[in-house]
Amino acid sequence: MSVVAILLALGWLATAWVAWRLKNSAVRAAESHARQLEEQRRHREAEFRAQAARTEALFDRMVEGILVVGQDGRLRLANRAAAGMFQFEAGAAGRTVLEATRHHEVAAIVARLAGEPEVLNHELRIDGVTETRWLQVNALALRTPEGEGEGAILVFHDLTRLRRLEGVRQEFVANVSHELRTPLSLIKSATETLIDGGRQDPQVTARFLEIIEKHANRLTLLLDDLLLLARLDSGRIDLDLRPVPLAAAAQEAIDDAAILARGRGVTLVQSVPDGLTAHADAHRLRQALANLIDNAIKYGREGGTVEVRGRELGAQQVEVSVRDDGPGIAGEALERVFERFYRADKARARVQGGTGLGLAIVKNVVQAHGGDVRVESTPGRGTEFFIRLPAARE
Ligand code: ADP
Repeated sequence: MSVVAILLALGWLATAWVAWRLKNSAVRAAESHARQLEEQRRHREAEFRAQAARTEALFDRMVEGILVVGQDGRLRLANRAAAGMFQFEAGAAGRTVLEATRHHEVAAIVARLAGEPEVLNHELRIDGVTETRWLQVNALALRTPEGEGEGAILVFHDLTRLRRLEGVRQEFVANVSHELRTPLSLIKSATETLIDGGRQDPQVTARFLEIIEKHANRLTLLLDDLLLLARLDSGRIDLDLRPVPLAAAAQEAIDDAAILARGRGVTLVQSVPDGLTAHADAHRLRQALANLIDNAIKYGREGGTVEVRGRELGAQQVEVSVRDDGPGIAGEALERVFERFYRADKARARVQGGTGLGLAIVKNVVQAHGGDVRVESTPGRGTEFFIRLPAARE
């Protein structure tokens, strides 16, 4: 082999080696790049999954129900609140809106959205087996930036509590109007009788003036009770909380009721043990006890006995109760006596002239103290109302 040939061979070898090295490092660079890309892809995927999980958790924690519907009318996403509102199980994705919600109006809203650029607002009433619920729906069609339909999103707000409160308010206003109208119309007709000549006769005048006074007093009582309830409702009542000896409070309330008790031949008994002390507003507690004692006399047995009792409930609470031996309160009425304007025996309550707010006031006054009230009654045997209050600390 000539020197030239050897040099050529060496040159070729060197070139091949350089090429091989270059190729090798290019492959390694490509491989490392690919690895980097793969790592980035995995990282992005993990981030995407974490983001999706966060969004899903957020969706599930929302009180509003959310349904996302695809262009094919099938559910893409339904959060927990929506599942609760329409009572379908998780995993509703893929079902049609009608299958999942079983509500034609919801499916109709989705159908209407197709040509609708604005948010659609609609109120749904869902009559269940045990209760009726109201939902406010805001629905919006989803579109791509090019304006093509991409499905819809529906947001449901539960209005049930609001509707119920509205119902309670309406009923309350109707009751108040009714309670005001009765004495007012009696006052009006008595006044008209006097104007139309009745006043010429002194006896007629005396009788009708008495009617006017009686019903004006009734109106005053009603307004006083309504104002007190309004103040209790809004928390605008300042309680002067001090240690109040229960036996003394019971005795004062009993003394206040002496005339009423005598009128019905009722014996009042004070048997609260000495040493029981509540952390309470003395004036409001006396008012609550007076309401219970008045009721026990009015609705209890004529010639019967009304007893005020008391006991300690652990170190934290004391209880005072008013018991009568009257006809008692039956079943459904027992659950409702603390409601405003509820009367177990309407005819009797009207004769007694109560406002129908006495027990509601007792309940609210006691609750304002952080206590509670309850009632036990056996028809034919009698009734006992219990007031539980925080005990005064030594
Ligand atoms: P009212 O002004 O009608 O007395 P309350 O709120 O004080 O209103 O009482 C509500 C209703 O509860 C009464 O109308 C009466 O029917 C019933 N009630 C209250 N206390 C007694 C009782 N001790 N025994 C029987 N019924 C009672």
